Amino acid sequence: MQKYKLWIDGKWVAGKGGKMSIENPATGKPIAEVVDAAREDVDKAVQAAHNAFYDGRWSRLTPGARSLALWKLADLVEKHAEALAKAESENTGKPYKFVSLGADMPFVIDNLRFFAAAARDTHGSAAGEYAAGFTSMYRREPVGVVGQIAPWNYPIMMAVWKFGPALAAGCTVILKPAPGTPITTLMLGELIKEAGIPDGVVNIVTGGNETGQALVEHPLVRMVSLTGSTGTGKKIMKTAADTLKRVHLELGGKAPFIVFEDADPEIVAATAKLASTFNTGQDCTAATRVYVHKSKEKIVRDAIVETMKSVKVGDPFADDIEMGPLISATQRERVVGFVDRAKQAGAKILTGGKTVKGAGYYFEPTVISSAKQADEIIQSEVFGPVLTVSTFKDDDEAIALGNDVPYGLAASVWTKDIGRAMKVARELEFGTVWINDHIPLASETPHGGFKQSGFGKDLSAEAVGDYKITKHVMVKNT
Ligand code: NAD
Repeated sequence: MQKYKLWIDGKWVAGKGGKMSIENPATGKPIAEVVDAAREDVDKAVQAAHNAFYDGRWSRLTPGARSLALWKLADLVEKHAEALAKAESENTGKPYKFVSLGADMPFVIDNLRFFAAAARDTHGSAAGEYAAGFTSMYRREPVGVVGQIAPWNYPIMMAVWKFGPALAAGCTVILKPAPGTPITTLMLGELIKEAGIPDGVVNIVTGGNETGQALVEHPLVRMVSLTGSTGTGKKIMKTAADTLKRVHLELGGKAPFIVFEDADPEIVAATAKLASTFNTGQDCTAATRVYVHKSKEKIVRDAIVETMKSVKVGDPFADDIEMGPLISATQRERVVGFVDRAKQAGAKILTGGKTVKGAGYYFEPTVISSAKQADEIIQSEVFGPVLTVSTFKDDDEAIALGNDVPYGLAASVWTKDIGRAMKVARELEFGTVWINDHIPLASETPHGGFKQSGFGKDLSAEAVGDYKITKHVMVKNT
């Protein structure tokens, strides 16, 4: 069984904390052991990032030099993609074919190449005489040392979405992966060094929530970037207030999937299946709430139930598998609890709703009807392969129901009427609105929330901008 240390200042460090066992959710068996970093380990990592920032070994490099190192890292990740994909699949239970060829590894490599390019962006610099006799200039400088805290649902992708834009901006980072899924993030440590990114620029500290808390409290950390649940985002924002850190929060979601009467039921059902079972529904943008015009309720609902019944669930390394297990026993209990409480509140389970017998944390793709808008199953993030189907009578009601949750991360609208699609997209309070699709993203497109889904963007040039701070330099002309 592989044993990992902490990655601090460009080397493996034993750490003072205890040990954590890492398991494979498809079998429930341990696969690795990592350090549960103590407060002093976090301090050591922050000091390394602080020194690396202030001696300018990264922050004062030209954007071109930073870009080249990020590009080399992308090449190295590509070279080691198969080993990374296997480790990711084993640590998360994601179908291997999706990690290796589908969403994860090819996207991660493209994300790194995008951030390498974005490091060289000159957009937005300006200089001018705004007060008589003075020239004003604006410097976009890196924020400094950034604490970055990741979730378990896309471990390597979330790591890259965190350090990619921060490094492009010239920051140095301490990255804490989620407690259960640190393997691929740790595997990046040596590749980062090999790419020529100086020691101390990226430090990887494994551990649980207390390790994260120590990072957020640390006075030398200037900014905290979290991808995680809305509850964790609120706690972090409160803690960060004590030292007035900047916060960048990518939080939970509860995406509506709004189907008008002119949409094709077969296409709608096929996408609803993919968007609710991809990554076993453990996706912050997953389709979770289908709202269908009441004239098409039966045909759309029946088509969705049929496609959900067809999802191939099982061993992540089998070729024809579409959905693996949930991430842990705890997460499966959570999903079971949501479904049981929905039933008690009067909802009907049209398919699924049960755990799959045997090893691993499998749960059936599930469709629920007759839930009321105020019910927990409509209002709260489940993070499992569970869809509700409800109806609406007109456009205004579709918009009102879609918006009626605390979250605002992603939504989709299904109609052939472009005017209606644009109107509904304008009214929906979500950071991403898809028209006639649900799930795709590109490295260039900003991803982030409205409302209690947080603020700040991942991906895109906006993400790089979030790790910069503007300095005004004023020169007296005479
Ligand atoms: P989580 O909030 O339980 O944990 C996220 C990270 O925060 C972990 O590394 C955890 O150790 C750390 N943490 C927890 N408490 C902390 C504290 N007090 N101080 C500092 N760090 C702390 O989330 P999770 O269960 O790992 O991930 C699932 C959640 O992430 C879902 O809500 C999902 O919607 C969200 N998510 C959002 C996005 C997005 O882009 N908006 C993307 C992926 C996942």
